[in-house]
Amino acid sequence: MTDTYPELRIYDSLTREKQVFEPIDDENVRLYVCGPTVYDYAHVGNARPVVVFDTLVRLLRYLYPNVTYVRNVTDIDDKINQRARDSGESISAITARTHQAYLEDMDALNADKPDIEPRATDHIPDMIAMCENLIEQGFAYAAEGHVLFAVSKYEQYGKLSRRNRDEMIAGARVEIAPYKKDPADFVLWKPSDDNTPGWDSPWGRGRPGWHIECSAMATRYLGENFDIHGGGIDLVFPHHENEIAQSCCANHGSSYAKYWMHNGHLMVEGEKMSKSLGNFVTVHELLENWPGEAIRLAMMSTHYHQPINWTLDNLRQAKEALDRFYTALRQTSYIIHEDADVPDGVLNALCDDLNTPLAIAEFHELITQLNKAKNDRKKAEAKGRVLAAAELLGILEIDVDSWFTAGGDADEAAEIDALITKRADAKKNRDFAVADQIRNDLLARGIILEDFKDGTSWKRG
Ligand SMILES: [Zn+2]
Repeated sequence: MTDTYPELRIYDSLTREKQVFEPIDDENVRLYVCGPTVYDYAHVGNARPVVVFDTLVRLLRYLYPNVTYVRNVTDIDDKINQRARDSGESISAITARTHQAYLEDMDALNADKPDIEPRATDHIPDMIAMCENLIEQGFAYAAEGHVLFAVSKYEQYGKLSRRNRDEMIAGARVEIAPYKKDPADFVLWKPSDDNTPGWDSPWGRGRPGWHIECSAMATRYLGENFDIHGGGIDLVFPHHENEIAQSCCANHGSSYAKYWMHNGHLMVEGEKMSKSLGNFVTVHELLENWPGEAIRLAMMSTHYHQPINWTLDNLRQAKEALDRFYTALRQTSYIIHEDADVPDGVLNALCDDLNTPLAIAEFHELITQLNKAKNDRKKAEAKGRVLAAAELLGILEIDVDSWFTAGGDADEAAEIDALITKRADAKKNRDFAVADQIRNDLLARGIILEDFKDGTSWKRG
C-alpha cells in the first residue's frame, strides 16, 4: 500500500476496537468469509455479508496489489439431509441447484465471485486430519463414533464472544449427551447411519461438524495465519469461537485470523425475519421486482456494523437514488470520461471502517458536480470521478438504456422506439399537435420521454 492512500481502519470484533489494518503480507491480503449452506434460496439476511464483504474486497483490491478472497460452500449439513428426506430430491441435486441459484442472485447484486469457493465435501481428508491432530495433542477425544473438542483444554475459549461458561452452554443449545465429558464440548465429527452421507474415518463412517469445515478450508487456502475472517454477527458464537479454538490448538503458535469482522443483524419491517411470521424475503423474489443494484444500495445505506431494518421504503429510496445516478450518466452519454482516481470523499469514508452511508452521500455530491459541469472537458473529468467511485461501490454496472427500459418486453421497446421516430418526424414537419399527442399517450402508459442533445430516450415513471 502506498502512502498516497488513507489508512484503512476496521472494527475488530476480537479486540472490540477500531484497528489500523496492517496485513500480514502486503503483497497478498488474505480474507475468509463463511459462505452459504446450500439447500434453499438465499434470503436478504444471507445477502448482507455478501454485499458487505464484496465492498471490503473491492476496497482492498484498490489499496493492495493482490487479495485472496475465500468463501466456502457448506454442502454437507443436517439441514440439507433433512431437505432431501422431505422432498425426495437427491442431496447432490439440491446442493448443485441451490448453489447455482445463490451465485446468480449474488451476481445480480454485483457481488464478485470470490477467488476460491471450496466445497466442504471436497475437503473431508483435511477435516479428518485436523481431528486426528487435535486428538493427538489432547485437545479432542473420540467417543461412540464422535470426535469432540474438549473446551476445558483451551484456556482462551470464549475470547471472541466474551461469554462465560454458562452463557456459552445456553447459547450453543448444546446437547447433553452421554458421550460428552463436558456439556460445553462441541462436535468435530459425528457418526452417519446408512441413510445419511458419510465418509470412512478412524472413528467409523461419519461426517464433519460444521465448525471444522471452515477451520480446515481456511487453513488449506490461506495458511495458519491470515488477515481477516468475516461473517454475520450471529456466527460469533458458537461458530467462530469454535473455529478459533480448533485452529489455534491444531496449529501450534497460530492465531488464526488477525482481524474479525461481523455485519449486524437484519430485520424486516422492524421484525425479526422468520418463516412463521411470513416475512421471509428471498433475494430471488426481490429480483423479480427490483434491480439487484437497488437491493445492494439499500443494504449499503446502513453501516455494516449496525442492525439493518429492511423495508420496501428503503428499497424504493435506493432505486430513486440510482435513477438519479443513471440519469446523470445518460445526460452525458456523448461524453468520453477521463480516467480518474477514486475521489477522496468516497475513499476516506470507506477506509473509515467501511462507512458506506457516508460514501453514498459523497457519491451524490459527485453526481451533483457532474450535473453542474459547465463544459465538455469538465463533464469528462466529473464523469471519470463518478465512474471510479461507482466501481469501488459496486454500482452503475448496468447499461444506461437498459436501466431505464427494464421491465418490458422487446416488442414494447421496438414499438416505443417507432413512436419516438414518428414524433421526431412530426416535430421536423412542425406538426406539434401530433408530437404532443405521442408524448401524452406514452405518458398515460407510464413511459416518460426525455429529450437530450443527441436524441430522445425513454424511461418508466
Ligand atoms: Zn464458517
